[in-house]
Amino acid sequence: MNFHTLADKSIAGGTLTRDECRAVLRSPNERILEVLDAAYKVRYHFCGNRVHLHMLINAKSGLCPEDCHYCSQSKISTADIERYPMVSMDRLLEGARQAKAARSLRYCIAISTRGAVDREIDYLANAVRRIKEEVDIAICCTVGIISEEKARRLYEAGVEQLNHNLNTSERYYPEICTTHTYQDRVNTLLSARRVGLTLCTGAIFGQGETEDDIIDVALALRDLDPQSIPVNFLIAMEGTPLAGMNYLKPQDCLRILCLMRFLNPGQEIRVSAGREAHIRSLQPLALYPANSVFVSGYLTSDGQDYQETWQMIADLGFEIDEYTAAETHECERSDAETVAG
Ligand code: SF4
Repeated sequence: MNFHTLADKSIAGGTLTRDECRAVLRSPNERILEVLDAAYKVRYHFCGNRVHLHMLINAKSGLCPEDCHYCSQSKISTADIERYPMVSMDRLLEGARQAKAARSLRYCIAISTRGAVDREIDYLANAVRRIKEEVDIAICCTVGIISEEKARRLYEAGVEQLNHNLNTSERYYPEICTTHTYQDRVNTLLSARRVGLTLCTGAIFGQGETEDDIIDVALALRDLDPQSIPVNFLIAMEGTPLAGMNYLKPQDCLRILCLMRFLNPGQEIRVSAGREAHIRSLQPLALYPANSVFVSGYLTSDGQDYQETWQMIADLGFEIDEYTAAETHECERSDAETVAG
């Protein structure tokens, strides 16, 4: 397999065949730099060397009635995490200021829930209005399964993007969650899109899925055409059903990121939870296929702090793309015009 042929196909708008996807996932360690180089060609064509930083706040933690097996906040998890109701308005604002100080493009507000209820939507909408008055930053919310009407209230308050991950393939979904379906998640994403929200949706790898499941969810994400794709690697916390599942190698994670780039050439691809534990010393290489990264931790676990991430980006010779309301920050529009193919 000539991986640069895949890069050219991707840049030209073509979709990799399943055999080509398999070739990426099965590339031998001694060819991993070739795969990364080809994925970087696509990333550079559409996104240049810019990197988007994102910071999360877990605005309501634990006690979720759902049973997502990967999640430390589910009703079946006994993981040793903080559990608390919705945080104060001041805490939400402080988090936005911290995200801005960390040069984040987007502040991601997450709550543990099957789906936010009316009063939670109203509370978050009010918080977002205040944040937008006081802090110049983009906002994404992750609030579970919601209707079009609730999505519209968030959008009208100033939320730009809704996150709801597919998490895995449709086939494997019942193995990781029994309290809602893959289709419930797709429906929420489609509702959000109808009201004008952009979509952030991705997956968690390392949950016991097969190679075909990886390809299926990668192709499903391509079909959904979200603006942003978080690529997570399972942090298998003690007390969750997936505890002890820890088989990913750093190169496996890099191959998955490259596949996501070939299939989603102009999207924001974010190397997300688990990068520290699974990619380890190879983390800088992840920014050749990916153009976005979380800083300063995840919902219930710590991560690399933002100063170290800044240093990694500077050492690569890449640049942080900071938020300004006047700019679109979308890869295809911001860089494709200025970067030669
Ligand atoms: S719905 Fe969200 S918070 Fe609840 S268990 Fe699933 S992933 Fe965790």
